[in-house]
Amino acid sequence: MMKMVQRTIGTLGLALLFTLALSLISTTDAEAYSWNRTLSEGSSGADVRELQIRVAGWAADSASQTFVAVDGQFGPGTTAAVKRFQRAYGLSADGIAGPATHAKLNALETSTGTKNFNYSEFHSKDGSGFRNGKVPEATVKENIRRLMYKLEAIRVKAGNKAITINSGFRSVSHNSNVGGASNSQHMYGIAADINISGVSTATAKNYAKTSGFSGMYNESGFVHLDSRAEYSYGSQAWWWE
Ligand SMILES: [Zn+2]
Repeated sequence: MMKMVQRTIGTLGLALLFTLALSLISTTDAEAYSWNRTLSEGSSGADVRELQIRVAGWAADSASQTFVAVDGQFGPGTTAAVKRFQRAYGLSADGIAGPATHAKLNALETSTGTKNFNYSEFHSKDGSGFRNGKVPEATVKENIRRLMYKLEAIRVKAGNKAITINSGFRSVSHNSNVGGASNSQHMYGIAADINISGVSTATAKNYAKTSGFSGMYNESGFVHLDSRAEYSYGSQAWWWE
């Protein structure tokens, strides 16, 4: 009887330690995507798609109307984007996403968005969060997440200067209240009006032109950026002004 009690306590103690260890891991690693394998050209799957989302802001070396296809197929465009990402983050630029690259990619991820951007910065300013747009709330949130990774790249290209989001997602009614276009890309969560601290709008657009943005124009004080060509419900045609 005594032996059984002792054994039970021992098991409980172990379980407790295990739980404690798990909670320690999860506090430091809470939002890390689980990369299970090294990804390289020819790989395909959901993890490749996630990789493409995270390197999407590294679409080109010079102004190019191109974007990293988020299709789960690791092709030459993904390799080139991974190389640019690796170079920018001080890794050896081999275009292969192994543990060191996974770690850098995960360092950009947080429970509230990305390292330098919070979902709340992109909420519709009429209090509807990501609701009442032209696509479901969950779709808007995912689109904003993809947008944030592109903006992380722009931030690095701008020498890590802070980026202010003047307008992110807009509900349909908020969009009409602020005089937005009838098919404004803001209503899908694929657009943002940004301002980079101490950087001209012209320079900001130049960063965007290597970051996979297919729609852009500048107003005094901010630049509108969107990914219209990438989404079936976007305006599709490139629009750089
Ligand atoms: Zn805009």
